[in-house]
Amino acid sequence: MNEFIEAKVRLRWGEQKPSYDVVIIGGGGHGLATAYYLATRHGITNVAVLERGYIGSGNSGRNTTVIRANYGIPASVRFYQHSLDLYRQLETETDRWIMHAEKGILWMHHTEMGIRTERARAHMNQAFGADTHFLTRKEIGKLVPEIDLDGGGRYPVLGGSYHTQGATARHDRVVWSYAEGAMARGVDVLQRTTATGIRLDGDRVTGVETDRGFIACGTVMSATAGQTTTITDMVGLRMPIRTHPLQALVTNHYRQTFHPIVASAELAFYVSQTARGEMLMGAEWDRQPSYSYRSSLEFLRSCTAKAITILPFLADLKVLRQWTGVCDLTPDSSPVMGFTPVDGFLVSTGWGTWGFKAIPAGGEQMAELIATGRTPELIAPYSLDRFARDRILADAGSAGTQ
Ligand SMILES: Cc1cc2nc3c(=O)[nH]c(=O)nc-3n(C[C@H](O)[C@H](O)[C@H](O)COP(=O)(O)OP(=O)(O)OC[C@H]3O[C@@H](n4cnc5c(N)ncnc54)[C@H](O)[C@@H]3O)c2cc1C
Repeated sequence: MNEFIEAKVRLRWGEQKPSYDVVIIGGGGHGLATAYYLATRHGITNVAVLERGYIGSGNSGRNTTVIRANYGIPASVRFYQHSLDLYRQLETETDRWIMHAEKGILWMHHTEMGIRTERARAHMNQAFGADTHFLTRKEIGKLVPEIDLDGGGRYPVLGGSYHTQGATARHDRVVWSYAEGAMARGVDVLQRTTATGIRLDGDRVTGVETDRGFIACGTVMSATAGQTTTITDMVGLRMPIRTHPLQALVTNHYRQTFHPIVASAELAFYVSQTARGEMLMGAEWDRQPSYSYRSSLEFLRSCTAKAITILPFLADLKVLRQWTGVCDLTPDSSPVMGFTPVDGFLVSTGWGTWGFKAIPAGGEQMAELIATGRTPELIAPYSLDRFARDRILADAGSAGTQ
């Protein structure tokens, strides 16, 4: 098996045309999934996806691939559960292996207040369609015997929840599957093409300037994650987005199977095992906003210290690699999807540290919005104007990275 190479995938690269119906800026999961669903669900194929690097070179190819729907507010449980269901069907739908593996996710707590919140989350998740159950400390010990329930004497595990449908999938393969499906139907995916400006006629979009020339179009969608504000600046739109780096690391392989995914929201730390047996870990985002892709010793130190405290066996492994992505964070830790005050300009952003799991639903719903001009019910709460209307969707506790 080599999960890095997919011999079956046929990527048919397009040539830039002078005009398209829709131009999507950003060849990550969200941009490509939107193009895929525009083509497959709505027959809209006169579409270009502009990618300044190579597809998946942004956060979609840098994340720790956790897929789950155990969110803390009803709107998000519904949305992420739909995405989780689409992920479950994606291999059949695209006839491509995305290495989707359902392993469950354990969400631990170390304080009385934390376990009270977790009990409520489990009930609310079940009411809105996500399979999450509260677990006692004893039950956690049975589920994952490797956990030090005393948390090194400092962070005792008091309880938590188990979300049975928590899963992982190979990130590159998700990107390739959507790209291939869109390209096969006529979408042009243009790598090494940077959007440098957006042309307006009054308040209406008329096209995109690129480093390879102008493209005329009536609809532009930005799906550029941590670069969102550099795009929205082009149309004079101020966004409630801050860009923060997020880091991850992977160890050499652990010779035993380690399931499920284990997370502590209070410590802001999580770990899962890759298909090759490596232990993949993430923690909180860097406090200092920046566009830096630099990995830090500080992250290495704090992430491994937390990991070893909860799972002492990890001390025997070696860190092989460490890397960074830059994330688009909103004040309420929920995404922004939909129209903007600029006619013909849409955004799919605010995916922060949690948007890989949202790729299928985000793409599907944005495609419907572009095709019909009507906001689908599932994403109506995530509109940009919610901040002005005081309808924020505060759910920072579900990110697991702050
Ligand atoms: C270390 C890390 C771990 C994570 N772990 C998880 C996880 O376990 N689960 C989860 O659900 N989420 C996770 N995430 C978050 C997730 O990766 C992102 O939310 C998601 O990938 C965003 O997808 P996207 O398509 O919006 O952005 P991206 O994949 O970043 O794609 C945006 C693309 O836009 C391109 N671009 C930018 N500017 C321009 C321009 N001017 N012209 C043309 N192209 C441009 C970029 O090159 C980039 O490829 C993690 C993120 C990181 C960094």
